[in-house]
Amino acid sequence: MPTTITFLGTSAVTPGAGHDTASFVINRKYLVDTGWNAAIRMLSHGISPLDLEYLFFTHFHQDHYISLPQVLFYRNQRSRDREHVPPLRIIGPEEELERIVSLTTQFIQIEKLKGGFVEPELHPLSPGSSFETDAFLIETIKSIHPVPGLVYRFTDKETSKVLAFTGDTAYHPPIIEMARDADLLIHEASHGPNRPKDTTWGHAGSPEAAEIAKEANAKRLALVHCPEAQQEAAVEAAKVIFPNTFWPEDGETVTL
Ligand SMILES: [Zn+2]
Ligand SMILES: [Zn+2]
Repeated sequence: MPTTITFLGTSAVTPGAGHDTASFVINRKYLVDTGWNAAIRMLSHGISPLDLEYLFFTHFHQDHYISLPQVLFYRNQRSRDREHVPPLRIIGPEEELERIVSLTTQFIQIEKLKGGFVEPELHPLSPGSSFETDAFLIETIKSIHPVPGLVYRFTDKETSKVLAFTGDTAYHPPIIEMARDADLLIHEASHGPNRPKDTTWGHAGSPEAAEIAKEANAKRLALVHCPEAQQEAAVEAAKVIFPNTFWPEDGETVTL
């Protein structure tokens, strides 16, 4: 089975109408960050939230987890559609994972849910630690961002295809090793076509993402996470350094 990546959104912190912030689904079973509206956007691209087995968080800034309540509530409400909906396994930076999930279950008031609530299974990760699923070997390093964050490398155990993705991060040379020979690198480009003068906010520009992809010998670079108006310019600036760069369309599925 080839690895597929379906982009639910690629916009900045506050997406425009009809868009969502950076979030995607791997193999229709792994959600990476929730954006603002993951459950409904999955449905509009023909993917059921009930099929999710894993949810990976890059970090816990609001634009990356704000629809977690929707994902858990949707699965709970529709679980009667299936004979067995397994607990969602949620993976993310160890410093904040348990607190965010606990706040979420309080917010959706699980005690009021008819038929009970299946608690998610939590797997807190620290940078440098790895994780394994039936399909992937997963390695991590830390991102450069104001809150704890992880950069992930997924290696398909069957095909050896590699997907690397950053979440939010400033330019960070160790990402080159995480993206080494990757079939696809998904790198944030919050600063659009510009190199940031001030890296305090922990974000990158597209020329920096392109340098990482080039040094890593990645095959393709997908840019995400800048305002819609800057996306075309971001791709143009990156292509000067790494020609095989694109900005994924909302709903686009890339096959490795
Ligand atoms: Zn963000
Ligand atoms: Zn962030």
